[in-house]
Amino acid sequence: MSSEASDAGYRGDHRVPVTLACSECRARNYKKTKAPTQTLELKKFCKQCKKHTLHRESK
Ligand SMILES: [Zn+2]
Repeated sequence: MSSEASDAGYRGDHRVPVTLACSECRARNYKKTKAPTQTLELKKFCKQCKKHTLHRESK
């Protein structure tokens, strides 16, 4: 009954939409939601680079 592991969704928490862009070619490949206080940085596949790259949120 402990839920200290990072949860995808806090119940009732406000979440904002973000676009994740490849840090190498700047292609906007993914859409996500996040908590306003959170900064997203994820390794994702970029179809332009044809490999996994770091994706950061962009406006
Ligand atoms: Zn890329």
